[in-house]
Amino acid sequence: MPTLQTLLNQVDKATAEIVELERALIRIPSVNTGFMPTGNETAVATHIRDWLNNEGISSQLLARDPGRDNIISLYPLVDDAAAPAARRGPSGSAGRSGRGTRGKTRLMFMSHLDVVPVENRAKWTHEPFGAEIAGGRIYGRGASDCKALLTSQLMAFAILKRNNVHLTHGLRLVSGADEEHGGRWGFGWLADKHPETLEADFAVNEGGGVPVRTGNNLTYLLGTGEKGRLEIHIRFKGDSAHASVPWLGKNSSYTLARALTAIEAYEPELDTSLPLFDHLSNFGIETKASTANVEAVIAEAHKKSPRLSTILRALSRMTLTPTMISGGIKSNSVPETISLTCDVRTLPFQDEAYVRAQLDSVLAGIEGVEYDIDYMSVPNQSPFETELAESIKRAMALAVERDDIQWVPAVSTGFTDSRFTRNMGIITYGFNAGHPDDDPMLHRAHGTDESVGIASLISATKAMIALAHDMCGAR
Ligand SMILES: [Zn+2]
Repeated sequence: MPTLQTLLNQVDKATAEIVELERALIRIPSVNTGFMPTGNETAVATHIRDWLNNEGISSQLLARDPGRDNIISLYPLVDDAAAPAARRGPSGSAGRSGRGTRGKTRLMFMSHLDVVPVENRAKWTHEPFGAEIAGGRIYGRGASDCKALLTSQLMAFAILKRNNVHLTHGLRLVSGADEEHGGRWGFGWLADKHPETLEADFAVNEGGGVPVRTGNNLTYLLGTGEKGRLEIHIRFKGDSAHASVPWLGKNSSYTLARALTAIEAYEPELDTSLPLFDHLSNFGIETKASTANVEAVIAEAHKKSPRLSTILRALSRMTLTPTMISGGIKSNSVPETISLTCDVRTLPFQDEAYVRAQLDSVLAGIEGVEYDIDYMSVPNQSPFETELAESIKRAMALAVERDDIQWVPAVSTGFTDSRFTRNMGIITYGFNAGHPDDDPMLHRAHGTDESVGIASLISATKAMIALAHDMCGAR
């Protein structure tokens, strides 16, 4: 069997192939608007199935509704590898042994197939689904979120297989539909209806594993957890009247104004208990953070890295942000009802009772207000001291040939499909394995001119190979 270093060298030689795979995936517009029918993840899933099939690797497509397929592929065991893929039935699934997507694997490569819509085409300088290359980067919607990670995981599968690497403990790849709108056609649905497709001890996904450079220091943030996300729907009740005699009614827009003023003045409780705050010296910040000095620490961090300071700010408090307003039915009527939607992000230990207590105090004294809470995602966390974390550190060092990388556990402000797998007891980390020369600020996930550095596609492919090699017992 070739050495791990030989496999990693093959990644450099496969650069053109990796770039073309990423471009092919970007060119399939799997846009998820959130309103059915949408997503068309099946087009990406079938492209991947055919690509894997060419490598002699079978896979299975599973969909809750037509057009919204998820893809599940098990890295072939030795006896599977010996059999031609064509013998495994029309869908390419491993019907022969009945094993297919079954059987617990040690590691799962996770990603998603859908992308968010293009908000304002006119602002893009590159064709959003053109996969244009400029300045060492590939541009397009989904280039970074999440087709880059998917590309590197697929290439890792192919390079391991081309070298007949046998993995003792099993490796699977699952790319889900609907990540961008809650996962109800993707990982959420698989976890609920087909949990056997996700059986693994460990998993790596998007949502972390990104480099932060401060001076000469190179630190990676490993995604160990996610803030919770809730939507608060607040209703302001008044009495309608004709707008020519407004004193006969009660105008709920004034109540809304009072509530907005109170929300703007809200001072969230500060907290520094997340593990990231114990690792600030990695960024050259020697002050021990506490609730008393955290604002000063954040200001100090801003001088070193604006990105770091915004992360620290988000991870030291709950946020409460008004995002949508609707109300009124006619321009000459005093509005009876107005609704305000707020986005709330909670820290891992802030439960619903905490959120209610905060809202009640913000809205105290304002009459005619009621609200309800809609959970989009509960906060979640995996431990930082695990075998997978150790393996990730070794893999990244090999991938970028640096032995001075420092790692800190980070809770991300957004949420991903990792919440479903963590909930199943699978230790899951956000690990994109981006290259230190590829500034994550340039990725612009969900934004205009989204892109990924080609260097990151290479480093991530190497890291995924090294990780599988190590965690899954290559021989
Ligand atoms: Zn994503």
